[in-house]
Amino acid sequence: MKNSTNQQNSLKIICDIIGHKYEVSKKVTSHVKEYTCKCCRKQLTTNSNGHLTELTPKFKEINSILEEIYTRRMLRLKEKTFSSSIY
Ligand SMILES: [Zn+2]
Repeated sequence: MKNSTNQQNSLKIICDIIGHKYEVSKKVTSHVKEYTCKCCRKQLTTNSNGHLTELTPKFKEINSILEEIYTRRMLRLKEKTFSSSIY
């Protein structure tokens, strides 16, 4: 029990010293993305101000709604482009 806690702490210390190794884990919209740290699995997301913030369950919910709206809008845009290119 004590050992696993120590291991997690040392991983966190590495991140604190050299910084998290974030990689994009999910693209929600063209400017909202979700990031996961390769090292400690900490998750971040872009908030409405365009800043990075911790990915809380609330933000996950917001992102899934955003993703749905974005996907629908992109589909509609594609249809529009397609039909206008015919005429
Ligand atoms: Zn990390």
